[in-house]
Parts: sequence; structure tokens; C-alpha cells
Amino acid sequence: MKKKLKIGWFSFSCCEDSTILFTELLNDHFIEWSKVIEFQHIRILRKSNKLKGLDVAFVEGAIASKSDALKLKEIRDNSKKLVAIGSCAINGMPSAQRNQFDPKTKKEIEFLIKRFSLSKNVKTVSDIVKIDDKVPGCPMNEEVFLKLINKYLKDFNII
Ligand code: SF4
Repeated sequence: MKKKLKIGWFSFSCCEDSTILFTELLNDHFIEWSKVIEFQHIRILRKSNKLKGLDVAFVEGAIASKSDALKLKEIRDNSKKLVAIGSCAINGMPSAQRNQFDPKTKKEIEFLIKRFSLSKNVKTVSDIVKIDDKVPGCPMNEEVFLKLINKYLKDFNII
């Protein structure tokens, strides 16, 4: 069977607009991509997902809790390459805006932090794990994402 690039798409704390953009890109590229890409862990596409042995994991969103940090580490351990998608994943903003609240506002939201077992501060993806590439933008820059997909298809000797 022809080798395919095994990819995963993961969303943490964010509005998931890059996921929507990715879905729109699938409208244009699905037939061409499905010949060379295995959508191994993508919840918007499939019910049963496999984490082990991914070539590339795309991660959007900021990391707002210890359990999300653990999930991210698990993704890193199972992926050869990890790409931070969009501004929230790369520099935390705007998802991390509570980090900049004044002390009074931080006090007011304390009960929510406790209720949802959130971390004191929201972190970026690279605060937790090593990243190999990033796609800036809010949502992600489509052109940079497409270039990166092609780069990985070449790097992994798929095309
Ligand atoms: S970077 Fe922008 S589009 Fe992406 S999740 Fe954050 S707020 Fe939404």
C-alpha cells in the first residue's frame, strides 16, 4: 500500500476558527489529499481516532489546565513533528487574556478557575512541549499552512 502522511488535528482552549478554516480547505483539497494523507486523528472527520504513530500533529489553542498539558505531552510523545496552529497556540492570545487581568478581576474569576480545574496562568503550546513549526494568524494563515503540508509531504518522502 502507498505510504501516506499520517496527520492529527487537535484543539485546546480557543474558538476553533482554524479548524473551520481547515474544514474549508478540505472542500478544495480532500480528493487530492486523501491520496497522500491519512487523516488518522481528526475528530471533525472521524469517530474512531488513533494517536499512536502520527507523523505530524497540528495543535490549535492555548493550554489552560494541567489535564490539557498532559494531553499535549501525550500528543508530542506520539508525533514525529508538532505544529502550533494560530496565535492562541503560538503566543497564547487572545485565549490567554485572563493572564493579564488586574488583581480584582482575577479574584472575581477565581471560582471559575477552581470549578473547571484550570491552571493559574494560560500557557502556549511551546511552554509545554517542543514545537517544530508554526502557522501564525488568527485564524491561521492559509497560505503558510498549505506550504507546510507540502513541505511535510516532501520531508516524509510521500511526494
Ligand atoms: S488564534 Fe484566533 S482564530 Fe485561532 S483559536 Fe485563537 S482566537 Fe480563534
